[in-house]
Amino acid sequence: MKAFVLKEPGAVGWYDAPEPELKQPYGAILRPVAVTPCSSDVHTVFGGGSRKAPNLILGHECVAQVQEVGDEVRDFAPGEIVAVPAITPDWRARAIQEGNDRHASAPFSGHQLGRTQPGVFAEKFLIPDADTTLAKIPDGVTLEQALMCVDVVTTGFTGAEYGEIRMGDTVVVMGIGPIGLMAIEGARHLGAARIIAVGSRPVCVELARKFGATDVISYKDGDVVSRVLDMTKGVGCDSVIICGGGDEVFTQAVDMVRYGTGTISNVNYYGGTGTLGFPKFSGGRGMAGKTIHTELAKGGRARIERLLAMVKYGRIDPAPLVTHRLYGLDQVEKALYMMRDKPDDLIKVMVQMDWKE
Ligand SMILES: [Zn+2]
Repeated sequence: MKAFVLKEPGAVGWYDAPEPELKQPYGAILRPVAVTPCSSDVHTVFGGGSRKAPNLILGHECVAQVQEVGDEVRDFAPGEIVAVPAITPDWRARAIQEGNDRHASAPFSGHQLGRTQPGVFAEKFLIPDADTTLAKIPDGVTLEQALMCVDVVTTGFTGAEYGEIRMGDTVVVMGIGPIGLMAIEGARHLGAARIIAVGSRPVCVELARKFGATDVISYKDGDVVSRVLDMTKGVGCDSVIICGGGDEVFTQAVDMVRYGTGTISNVNYYGGTGTLGFPKFSGGRGMAGKTIHTELAKGGRARIERLLAMVKYGRIDPAPLVTHRLYGLDQVEKALYMMRDKPDDLIKVMVQMDWKE
């Protein structure tokens, strides 16, 4: 079957891959209906990272049609269109019982699709455990909305949740790409009073305000830390959600979050090797009472079905994140380069398939 793969670090292309076979009684074979490349696909291809299998099929954001299910699958049947979570933990791993789903059997074991398991940029793909992984799409939820829930919404909301936001908090969201925009939406739902978004691309600034940012500041207008401290009378903000930026944003977050109860929630990817800087002074020489969380997005069926319920009942609408649409599996390549090169008006590009029955 036709598949879009990582040939070797930095090089992608098309490959005639073997079709997935249904060997697991709990598994399902699916056919993509719509996919979207993500910055983490860009990191996987162009950013180095861990060693990948040769001709690894890329992609982990997908709405798909069930083609075939194993004998033990209870809740899904061929023909059904479902949301496929980007993060697909192995819910049978021992560490699940200790509350550890995303790193249960190894670091990042929850991130399998397009990483340790063939991804969704292909004619077909396998999900080893359908009932715990696939998410039912409620009536009234559009393809765009469902596609945004599988990674972008859950990642942004994970950032907001680990920010330990209380009603009335002042929250800074660093980076206003798709994840940051959903972190803003999440912070608003958790009761943040003031949401200060840090970013500058006009298309993102406009949506940041729409999703709930009360203030938008830009790196281009000077030091972000001193501006946040000015805006909070020197106290600092209650929570910083890091959704984008280079190594310096981590240090800035420690600088700008308040002593005693401040929380930093990082869902940002730091490429390369080395260390991130923890500032000794604003870090209270190790005794500032500032909490730091470093999190991979929550995944699995229940999580994504909860987010889809928020869409169904009008609490969130992530559809405006889809600024570009392409048609046909062939266009996945173009879409990946669009995510890398970020034309001015791009937030997310959806590739809708054109399968014939
Ligand atoms: Zn993604």
